[in-house]
Amino acid sequence: MPELPEVEGLVRSLKPIVTGKTIESVEISKTIIDSKANGKEAILKGLDVESFREALPHMKIERIDRRSKYIYFHLQKDGTPYLLVSHLGMSGAWFYVKGLHEILEDKFKRHIHVILHFSEGEMLVYADIRRFGELRFLNSVEDYPPLLLMAPEPFDQNALDHYLEMSILPKYENKPIKEFIMDGHVVSGCGNIYATEALFRMRIHPGRKVKRISKERKIQLFNEIVIVLLDSIENGGSSISDYRQINGESGKMQNRLQMYAKKTCPICHAKTLQKTIGGRTSTYCGKCQK
Ligand SMILES: [Zn+2]
Repeated sequence: MPELPEVEGLVRSLKPIVTGKTIESVEISKTIIDSKANGKEAILKGLDVESFREALPHMKIERIDRRSKYIYFHLQKDGTPYLLVSHLGMSGAWFYVKGLHEILEDKFKRHIHVILHFSEGEMLVYADIRRFGELRFLNSVEDYPPLLLMAPEPFDQNALDHYLEMSILPKYENKPIKEFIMDGHVVSGCGNIYATEALFRMRIHPGRKVKRISKERKIQLFNEIVIVLLDSIENGGSSISDYRQINGESGKMQNRLQMYAKKTCPICHAKTLQKTIGGRTSTYCGKCQK
């Protein structure tokens, strides 16, 4: 599942390529059209296929940025700003190509759902194998309130204070630490991979209750999350299963992970343990993490 570093990598590669470009036309897959016709909301959320297809042509992409695990395409038409918000879900990927044959992996090619065509034949292609991704066309972030409730970016000045304030709230203090740091209202963009790594580096058991960790350790843990996220951004993200960079290449961070999906602990060589915490599988070392 693409997490913050992977989305950041994608946004960094998209920026120089599509900023300033104008969308000419939009193609939507039959799968999405059928799903919408059946009253479901595969990928395209909150807007019908026809409105989406009619809204985007002649929109200029003014700017692209990332907020948590969302990609914001800031659009403009006739001086009015709009926003196209993309969340990659479990297995979404964007490819910038001149022809669909440039998408080399069959599993992505077979699951192309949205194509934004630009002039001169280039296109921005959204493929999503498991279809848990989301695309929303909005006037602004206010149109979709969950975007307003996200914790500050982990690299922002106020992110640590926000996290510490959350950690003493009754609704959070009895939660397992791993569930706490993976909550998007607490820390933005810390998914399973990076929560697992940060907790291992800090030797904290993922099931430990928030209130049983000192303020000093909580601060150290937060800083460790930031370090792991930055390290991953520098290494092109983790290509665990279906994440690809925009050119179809894999990231390198998966080679640097110490605990996520590991069978043995790299420190004491004991067999790692697994436990479901907050609905997610957590891998940890029962000896090293207390
Ligand atoms: Zn160990």
